[in-house]
Amino acid sequence: MAEAEVGDDVFGEDPTVNEIQRQAAQLLGTEDALFVTSGTMGNLISVMCHCNFRGAEALIGDESHIFMYEQGGIAQIAGVFSRPVRTLSDGSLDLQDLESKIQHGFPDAHFGKTQLICLENSHNRMGGRVLPLSYMKEVRSIADRYHLKIHLDGARLLNAAQYLGVQPSQIAQFSDSVSLCLSKGLGAPVGSLIGGQKEFIDKARRIRKLLGGGMRQAGVLAAAGIVALNRALENVALDHQHAKAFALGVQAIASPVCTTDPATVESNMVRLMLNDKLTAEELCKQLGDVNQVEQDTKQGVSVLALPVSLHCVRLVWHRDISEQDTRLALDKLKTVLQTYSNEKIE
Ligand SMILES: *Cc1c(COP(=O)(O)O)cnc(C)c1O
Repeated sequence: MAEAEVGDDVFGEDPTVNEIQRQAAQLLGTEDALFVTSGTMGNLISVMCHCNFRGAEALIGDESHIFMYEQGGIAQIAGVFSRPVRTLSDGSLDLQDLESKIQHGFPDAHFGKTQLICLENSHNRMGGRVLPLSYMKEVRSIADRYHLKIHLDGARLLNAAQYLGVQPSQIAQFSDSVSLCLSKGLGAPVGSLIGGQKEFIDKARRIRKLLGGGMRQAGVLAAAGIVALNRALENVALDHQHAKAFALGVQAIASPVCTTDPATVESNMVRLMLNDKLTAEELCKQLGDVNQVEQDTKQGVSVLALPVSLHCVRLVWHRDISEQDTRLALDKLKTVLQTYSNEKIE
């Protein structure tokens, strides 16, 4: 980052930003790509590019990041109406539900008009589950039949590609636009990329500026992004191994209060399902706490985990979590669950 060659990216003159965009377009198999501040901005820009009038409708998963965690930005800012579609446990959208929610009535004054389908791969809330290529292709054929665009929220597209054993471009080929986060498992401090046809990216660049995302000497950030991209495939494979090993370890503990299903661990996430004796908040607090003795002897392990619902905790691996860290985290969980079982189960 310190050595990055920079220029004014609002004028398209930052060589490091131009380089990451070139690399991203190649990786995604798209004509062009654009460096944006965040995944949220990448999704918003993409939806704004595809939905070109107020009241346009987007079909989005009811458990998707765009629907759950972006403040309804596509409605607040873009005037796009979200029509939620049922999300299945593998992260796919129920295709019957999807097709039944496409609006045909336009220009009858009762109806809006569907313009876009949004997918997410891998799927955050479904625990990093990966959509297979055959499914992506099926959604593409529905979209084509009804002249709809597809935006793929690929915040963790490289995790999906690793799991499927394909190039990211083989997944992205079924969508009209795709976003990719550099600052999640890939470990860069800031930034996301979106990819699409040149015409889409030209429009996206204008909207990025409108939203305040035109960054001038952004090459310092792009430089870290390039490192993240270049190490990604190797890192992501390790993350998946660590997550799987952890899940198998949890299964081996065979705790009555906390379970997981290693068969559903397809990428870098593990979800712990708790019974009604233990809340997600409480488990996360105990995983994070280091007691006085541990503190004094500098033997403490603090595990940062996220409660995602009342009785479900999410753990995510990224490039700075080693095999050793994974073992320590598992030991910590074991200790917490032991004391817990002794106290609460007679
Ligand atoms: C994190 C995430 C985003 C948003 O990324 P930010 O950079 O945090 O705005 C979008 N989609 C998915 C699936 C994510 O996990």
